This record gives sequence, C-alpha cells and structure tokens, in this order.
Amino acid sequence: MKLFRHGPSGLESAGMLDREGGMRDLSGVVEDISAEWLGTGGLAALRAIDPFKLPVVAKNSRIGCPVAGVRQLIAVGLNYRAHAAEAGLPIPTEPIIFHKAITCLSGPNDDVVLPANSTAGDWEIEVAIVIGQVTRNVSVNVAMAHVAGFSLANDVSERDWQLKRSGQWGKGKSFDTFGPLGPWLVTPDEIEAGNIPLTLSVNGQLKQSSNTRDMIFDTTFLVSYISSFQTLLPGDVIMTGTPQGVGLGMKPPQYLRPGDQMALDGGPLGRQTQRVAATQS
Ligand code: ZN
Repeated sequence: MKLFRHGPSGLESAGMLDREGGMRDLSGVVEDISAEWLGTGGLAALRAIDPFKLPVVAKNSRIGCPVAGVRQLIAVGLNYRAHAAEAGLPIPTEPIIFHKAITCLSGPNDDVVLPANSTAGDWEIEVAIVIGQVTRNVSVNVAMAHVAGFSLANDVSERDWQLKRSGQWGKGKSFDTFGPLGPWLVTPDEIEAGNIPLTLSVNGQLKQSSNTRDMIFDTTFLVSYISSFQTLLPGDVIMTGTPQGVGLGMKPPQYLRPGDQMALDGGPLGRQTQRVAATQS
C-alpha cells in the first residue's frame, strides 16, 4: 500500500494510491494516518479496501507529511560509503545517530525556509523508516515486522549551525521546514529497502545520485541497533543517512540560496520538489 495525507497544513486527510498511481481519499475510512493510529494496528485493516471504490483526490491538492503526530525524529549520519569519503571521514564502525526536532517536519513539496542570515543551507536526500509499533531491543530477524513503511525525506541542514556553533548536529538540522517527508508512506511488502534509487537535483543540476545498496548499515540493522538503546514508538521516523553529493562535499562548498528549486526522486517512494525561501523578518 501507498498511503498519504492531503489538504492544507494541519488539516490533512488520509489518502491511498490506487494501482494506477491515482490519489484516492481515505477519509471516509480512516480519520488520519497518525502515529497513534499506526500503534493500534490500523494498517492491516486497510488491506481489504479496494482503492478504486474511493473518491478521487484533486490532482493539485497539497500533500502533507505522511504521518501525523510523530513523536521522535531520529537520523543517521555518514551511512553511505561514498558520502563518508567526500566528507573526508572514516567509514563508521557503529551508526552515528542524532536527533532532529519533530517541529521541522513538513510536506514533501512545501517551501524550505532558511533561517535569518543563513549562507550554508544544504540538501540531503534520504530514505526514512516509519515505525509501526512499540519497539524495544529487537533483533535484526524481527526488526522489519516493527516497520510500518518507508518514505522519502530531505534532511535539510544548515552547516554553520551544524558544525560551527558548538555541540550537537541537531542545531543545524531542526529549523522549521528542514524535514520534508513524503509523498507516500510505502509499506514494506511493496519495496526492496536495500535497492532504492535516490537522485537529487538543484535548479535542474544533478547533485546526488545513488542507491540504498551503498548503505553501510541497512534499514533492518538500524531499527535493531537504535532499539537497543532507546524505545521506538509507533510513527517514529528514522532518516537513514544521505549519499554523496551534498553541497558541503563540493570544492568549494555550494549552498542553497533563496529561489533555488530542489527536486528529489526516490523511485518507488515518489518525488519531492521544494522551493528555497528566506525568512521574512
Ligand atoms: Zn542526513
């Protein structure tokens, strides 16, 4: 299944793709695709639904973040071999984990707003895992049973705040709009998580092109690993790291400017486009 949320920000309704990729309204069946609803196991009941019998969603509808009420947003650093190389850093022997504020989450095509005086905004296409149930200390053998699905993410980063302002990376990763997620929440049966193509371009120029095959720690391992030191809750989102081609890795670095357009393609996970805007003071 491919689920989504459509409508104005904060007022989204549930939706489901039909087999031809058409957007269908699920709001007569499910109140919302929320963290709480995922925790009640609601996903399984949707399998009996024939999307072709649902109303069509207008083509120009805004798509929102595919899960409402996310409680934890966890991210993985340096999880692609070629990205670690461009950063000039050794291949990690254990996953590097950091946290983004949940308030950064936004729809896949919403504007990305740079903070005041920002000159080091950067892009990071990633696959996100959405957790389906309370997950604590699970082995790799059962980890995937705890996953509700996968989604496409842009782990937008402000490198000066991330790297030059002392302390943890979260500072440069948590501004409002720095977590575009979606369009779809794709259930694990529809996707091969270890073989997802990822491309990102800025103003039509290709910057990142890779595949989850180049991941150092795969999605199953990451769920198991993270659950060994913290409890994961239904709806929690794990951004699994970005491949090579970020602005920071260019010589000299290339950063986002207001007016830029980012376009992300995650194959079966769908596409995102974001316009970069400046903070209005
Ligand atoms: Zn990242």
